[in-house]
Amino acid sequence: MPTPTPTPSAHRQRTCRACGRKFDYPVKGSPATRHHCEDCVIIPPDTRKVIERLNNRVTQLERQLDSLRRAAAPPPAA
Ligand SMILES: [Zn+2]
Repeated sequence: MPTPTPTPSAHRQRTCRACGRKFDYPVKGSPATRHHCEDCVIIPPDTRKVIERLNNRVTQLERQLDSLRRAAAPPPAA
């Protein structure tokens, strides 16, 4: 009995944990890992950890800004 694959799409796009960039994974010849794009994979882990923390804050702030914008914007006139 074959094991079911969680993701049906073969072509995967991932978001880099450090810089938030969307990248394709896996790409032949690319050093990118499933969590980091090819630019961030060379950053030393200690430094990358700090960048990831900052990126998380940026992501949270963007989400908050988005919901604030939606709350402030009047509903589209029909
Ligand atoms: Zn990156």
